[in-house]
Amino acid sequence: MTPAHPASGPPMTLREDAQAIQSDLVELRRALHREPEIGLDLPRTQAKLLAALDGLPLEVTTGTALSSVTAVLRGGRPGPAVLLRSDMDALPVKELTGEPFSSQIDGAMHACGHDLHMAILVGAARLLSARREELPGSVIFMFQPAEEGPGGAEPMIREGVLDAAGTRAVAAYGLHVSSSKEPYGVFTGRRGPLMSAADRVHVTVRGRGGHGSQPFRAKDPIPAACEMVTALSTHVTRGHDIFDPVVVTVGSFHAGTAENIIPETAHFDATVRSFSADARAKVHAGITAMLSGIAHAHGLEAEIDIEDGYPVTVNDDGEAEFVADTIADLYGADRFTWMPNPEPGSEDFSYVLAEVPGAFVFLGACPPEIDHEAAASNHAPQARFDDGVLADGAELLAELTLRRLARDS
Ligand SMILES: [Zn+2]
Ligand SMILES: [Zn+2]
Repeated sequence: MTPAHPASGPPMTLREDAQAIQSDLVELRRALHREPEIGLDLPRTQAKLLAALDGLPLEVTTGTALSSVTAVLRGGRPGPAVLLRSDMDALPVKELTGEPFSSQIDGAMHACGHDLHMAILVGAARLLSARREELPGSVIFMFQPAEEGPGGAEPMIREGVLDAAGTRAVAAYGLHVSSSKEPYGVFTGRRGPLMSAADRVHVTVRGRGGHGSQPFRAKDPIPAACEMVTALSTHVTRGHDIFDPVVVTVGSFHAGTAENIIPETAHFDATVRSFSADARAKVHAGITAMLSGIAHAHGLEAEIDIEDGYPVTVNDDGEAEFVADTIADLYGADRFTWMPNPEPGSEDFSYVLAEVPGAFVFLGACPPEIDHEAAASNHAPQARFDDGVLADGAELLAELTLRRLARDS
């Protein structure tokens, strides 16, 4: 019988290592939480990450078009590369949690838990750095700004993050905490589509203005635009498979200035959500054809601008099962739940998963003393995330990497 951890004896387990750095990760998360930054340019957040990674055996580079951080860990043995990703940005929300480490920046808050993601990824970098010699391959740590918009994953891919280790990453993993819905400490995931694509449609209907008393002398764009709004709903229910759903919501509609003036134009904007590349292409084509047809039927013109947002976030089936199995091995089967349906939100890790097979998983971080069903959701000013989950998150990302690299080496 040897003592558990003699100074020169066997190394600590990953679990013990993760627990040993938990208080450091909490401290980092709270420092990040106090000083949230929004968008592509996050200099103070970047500086905190660089300081937290300092001293680890990493090749660190920073972004050109955005304040990203890419860190590469080269293992002691040859092998493939695995990518782990965290987002970095906060939201334009005024914090109302009452937490002692609340935001000190007026009108900005880490209301989506990206502060926890950063601390978790730093934790994984520390755990894996301590195992560098035995690592059969490389790890790319991707710290990404602007997930909440305008999007940081695409510019990081353009700047080479997927090939940062010298070869294209063979797998990519990320996680997202939630302040409600899932119980504390429970992971949820899905094979295939996990989150929707979210695109915007901007429509301007052009007619000819005139006097409200003599519409036959004008070309009124308002009735045609109203017809378009109702036709969009009909198109969704008649033109799309209910098992490959599409959501179209017109959230803004503007036309005219007074009751007796027929305006020149009417304008409306819609959000379009879809859960497969096929449905996305089909709804874009369907909307364009139908709206121009309605305009022409009324002798009007319609300018239809479809602005692509983030694509569908699609988990690789095998990688999603690998993540679920790893969670069950680490924490027990009751800590993982398969989601029956995708989430109707969107996420720009989708750009990474479109290039590299991988999986994204959710982690319940609602403080256990609060009812997770009734708790404030991500993005709410009252959203609270319990940083007790940090060690488990870091351990999971490290364990996924160790297993995935061992598989291909
Ligand atoms: Zn968010
Ligand atoms: Zn988020």
